[in-house]
Amino acid sequence: MKMKTSRVDNIVQPLKHKHVPLRTCIACRQSTAKRELIRLVKFESRVEVDPGGKKPGRGVYLCAHRKCWEAGLKGNRIEFGLRTKLSAENRQALLEYGRELQEKEIRQ
Ligand SMILES: [Zn+2]
Repeated sequence: MKMKTSRVDNIVQPLKHKHVPLRTCIACRQSTAKRELIRLVKFESRVEVDPGGKKPGRGVYLCAHRKCWEAGLKGNRIEFGLRTKLSAENRQALLEYGRELQEKEIRQ
């Protein structure tokens, strides 16, 4: 019986001390916990948002802030990071996503 309780503790505890993976936002260059950043991934010929961070392939990260999305989508940072071409329509769609993020933040 004693064994059973300690086994449960062992499952819960390591999570607290687990190494937090860090990623760098391509806009502000700050290292942040991976789960607080939003991953962008190249999928076929498009750049898509990967909120779960689970899609395979090369990815870049942006903070969940409109400022970083606008800065990150300006110029060719994403294109350079993902080694792809970003169409005007694709860039616009990503900017819209960034705007929604900001609205959610304000509501909270
Ligand atoms: Zn940032």
